[in-house]
Amino acid sequence: MQELAEGIYLHPGAVNCGIISRGGDALVIDTGLDKEAGRKLLKALGEKSLKVIINTHAHADHFGGNDFLTKRTGAEVWASRAEGAGMDNPEFEPVFLAAGSAPLREMYSRFFLAPRSTPGRVLTGGERITDWDLEILDLPGHSIEQLGVACGEVCFTADAFLGPEALTKHGIPFNVDITAQLNTLDLLADLPYHWFVPAHGEAREREGMRRDVEQNRNRIELILELIAGYLAEGPLNLEQVVKRVCDSLDLTVGNPGQFYLFRTSINAYLTHLAAKGMVRPMFEANCFLWERV
Ligand SMILES: [Zn+2]
Repeated sequence: MQELAEGIYLHPGAVNCGIISRGGDALVIDTGLDKEAGRKLLKALGEKSLKVIINTHAHADHFGGNDFLTKRTGAEVWASRAEGAGMDNPEFEPVFLAAGSAPLREMYSRFFLAPRSTPGRVLTGGERITDWDLEILDLPGHSIEQLGVACGEVCFTADAFLGPEALTKHGIPFNVDITAQLNTLDLLADLPYHWFVPAHGEAREREGMRRDVEQNRNRIELILELIAGYLAEGPLNLEQVVKRVCDSLDLTVGNPGQFYLFRTSINAYLTHLAAKGMVRPMFEANCFLWERV
């Protein structure tokens, strides 16, 4: 564990979790993918009594350890309204990715479906929690109502930006709302904290965070330009746009889950461009196509 400030720790893993300790009590920020991640977190807490789990958003790799930890410790779960609804109804995630219909069976893997976790308190952006010296930040874009958590000089930013390795690995960062995500990146760049902890990647100081945020923004702008360029040549359907972006970024899609993640993000790019008046849907021979305006 890395102690970033007094009583504020980064618990590194496939998903970084935060631990805030006050006397003999502890609060954690996200719990990792599964029971095993929860077990490691509990071990890291040692003698401390876990009182609260804050989940930044309802992706399985961020709340998959909740079930184990709440059963073991009785900790209360806090989350935003929409993300909390997702955690309380975890089957929503595979259904969302399958565009609202019953998903393929392979979508019920632990990467998309975590055990149910019902929040006991709804958090909203801008809220201050004095008992724990926390400020809750609205960081939507990667998910509908993702939250960040700031404590003293440390800000846990969930998946609001990816570190350079994760950005390269993912190619098309997962976002459900590009307009919101661009606003979130602007907000991050102006935050005053000393340490920034993304869920994927190392903790970085403010200047490092700003460089990464710039790279994340550049990636989004590149994808927007690519899509606008393809559609300037003629209309395409959503799946053709996904293929063109993957080809351009040298990404290989190998399974339905990965394809659904890309498709969801690319759809968000198209609706962002539509909101800006640059593209619009059209129908031709019963095909839903996107065209440049
Ligand atoms: Zn996520």
